Parts: sequence; C-alpha cells; structure tokens
Amino acid sequence: MSSSTYQAGRHFLQIPGPTNVPDRILRAMDHPTIDHRGPAFAEIGKQCLDGMKTIFKTDSAVIIYPASGTGAWEAALVNLINEGERVLMVETGHFATLWQKMADRLGIETEFLETDWRRGVDPQAIEDRLRADGEGRIRAVCVVHNETSTGSTSRIGEVRAAMDAAGHGALLMVDTISSLASIDYRHDEWGVDVTVSGSQKGLMLPPGLSFNAISERAITESKSNGQQRSYWDWQEQLAANAGGAFPYTPATNLLYGLAEAIDMLHEEGLDNVFSRHDRHAEATRRAVQAWGLEVLCQEPRDWSSSLTAVLMPEGHDADAFRATVLANFDMSLGNGLSRLAGRVFRIGHLGDFNDLMLAGTLSGVEMGLRVADIPHQSGGVQAAMQFLSETAVAA
Ligand SMILES: *Cc1c(COP(=O)(O)O)cnc(C)c1O
Repeated sequence: MSSSTYQAGRHFLQIPGPTNVPDRILRAMDHPTIDHRGPAFAEIGKQCLDGMKTIFKTDSAVIIYPASGTGAWEAALVNLINEGERVLMVETGHFATLWQKMADRLGIETEFLETDWRRGVDPQAIEDRLRADGEGRIRAVCVVHNETSTGSTSRIGEVRAAMDAAGHGALLMVDTISSLASIDYRHDEWGVDVTVSGSQKGLMLPPGLSFNAISERAITESKSNGQQRSYWDWQEQLAANAGGAFPYTPATNLLYGLAEAIDMLHEEGLDNVFSRHDRHAEATRRAVQAWGLEVLCQEPRDWSSSLTAVLMPEGHDADAFRATVLANFDMSLGNGLSRLAGRVFRIGHLGDFNDLMLAGTLSGVEMGLRVADIPHQSGGVQAAMQFLSETAVAA
C-alpha cells in the first residue's frame, strides 16, 4: 500500500487489464498450495486445460504457461518460426509493435504493414501482400485481435478468408490477450494456428498465466522447427498435460482461480458475456460523443468492446487528467502508450463489470473533466444511462 491516507470504498480499476478480480475468484485461490505432482493436482490441471478449450473454441490443444502474455507471444514464435524465416505483421498499435520487436530480436524477418493506429487490420492488405509472395516466403501472418493501445478490434474471420482467397499457405497467429472472454473469438472456425492469450484481462484473474491454443497443423509443424527453445517448448507441455500435469511447477493457485473463471463464464454464457461487453462499449461511446470528445478508433466496424481510447482536446495532457481522476475519485484509467503518450486516456470496460460500475466509471471521467478544466460538454453520463436503461428489461 502507498503511504497516503486510507481511501474508503473500492478502488475503480478501469485500465484495460489487469481488470477487477471478482470475489469468487479471489476465494477460489484462497486455498493451500498443493503438491503439483500429487494425485489431487491432476483434476484441477485437467479442468483448466479442457475448460480453456471451450473458451478458445477449439478441439485441439491449449498450453498454459506460468508467465505474462509476453511469454505466450514468444512461445508462439519459437515453436514455429525459424531464425531467418519471414512473418507478416500489422502495425495496429503499441502491442503489435512490441510483438514485431520481439520477432525481430529472435532473428525472424518481419514485414510490418503500417496503419495510422486508428483502425484494425485491413484484410485486403493482407490478401494483396500474400498474393505478391509468389515464392511463399511468408511463414506466418501475426495479428493482434484487440489492440489494447488504441481500442480497435480486427476481424479475424475476414483475415482468414483473405489468406484463403490468396491461396497462401502461411500459418495464422492471433494475440487475444485483451479480447478472449470479452469479444467473440473462434480458434477452430477461423482456422487459427496459434492463439495467444493472458489471464489478467477478460479472464478476470490476476496477472501470471498465459496461453497458446494450438492447431493440429501447428503441433505437427513445431516438431520439425529448429528454432532453439526450452521453457516454451510445446512438446514437453503436451506430454505432461496428457495426464493433467506440467513439466515444471505450474502457478497452482492461479489455476484454482482459472477453473472458477471458466465456470463463471459458462454460467453467464459466452454469448451473454460478449453482448454485455458490446453494450457497455456502446454506452461508453455515447458518453464520449456527448462530451464532445473523440473516440480514437475511426472505423466503426473495428470499435473495441473491451476498452475505449479517448483523444484529449489539443493542448491538454491525458496523464495530468488521469492523475486528477485518481487523486479525487480513486479511479485508474489507462494511459496513452508510446506515440499516444499524453494524447489519449483509455477506459477499460472488460472483465467482471456491470451497468452501475460503468455508470460510476463514466461519472468519474465526467467529474474529472470538470475538475481538470478540460473543454467538454456535460451530459455524457446522462447519455450512457439513457442507452443502458433503453436496453434494460422491466422485471
Ligand atoms: C496486455 C497485452 C499484452 C501484454 O501482456 P503482458 O501480460 O503484459 O505480457 C500483449 N498484447 C495485448 C493485446 C495486450 O492487451
């Protein structure tokens, strides 16, 4: 805890990950740590490995690492791509750029299609680039499903269709760290070879777990891939996972939380989870519009249901505004990353979240705009409440 005075009530953690961890999950993790090689462990191991298949929507395999999402990015690359091979990536924003830099450091050749950081991936641009790759040098297409730095979501089904239309045999890798369990995602149906994800966003867990969902093709091709790897190697994991175990110490207590999260998502129903996120995103955009501010993502088809990035009016610093909100209303908003530093703030509306939490969040933003003397119109919260009540149902 900081040395500042006690703050009454709950902190509002409205960054787009880590997200609020529900009490049910905290309680599920409040459990003695058990022997991860003992008989009781296999049950929880199996529950998580099988359960995650239903979240990724795959019949193939899911690997669980005790690592942040960045580790699962690396795992996806080193299991399938050799040094000197080429991948096609799309610069949707800060996170896509970090993944590209990682590939570069691993000695992988990267082609990076530019965007203006205000939209998702253009499937046509991928199709055009693949059509031009007559020699089939591109080994994989790597895209970020939900670009957390900008609040834009890419249409993965259309990316798949573009790859098929080009008749190109590249693998498809997708980062769903801030979309899984918040925005509709279908690993098998969309023909994805590796889906990367993490625990601390839509899955409502603390940070510390990450995932690779891997297709049969990915499993087969990884066996002959010569890139050096050890900790991230899929074969070691798959062999141990067959019996519900892991090749090294798993994050046991996070797995108790994960099993609970999977149960909670199915109790609500994944489709209901997705429409809850869609509805909160729409209410948020209506508030932004009523304030007279601008949503960073300019392509309505790509608007994110996990978070909304809001552009600050010219001459006003988003970080000073966020500091005002934190100091007065005990709410954390997301900052602008790299080229967006100081220029945007991000409202996270994903994970364990409901209408009144959203109303509180937007109230904190609106009061903050007033306190910080940011030019805006009032009425954003009103507009959001109007939409939320219009789309609510009478008992
Ligand atoms: C959060 C995030 C990451 C990074 O994950 P870490 O857990 O911080 O390593 C990568 N990609 C996206 C899209 C993210 O939202």
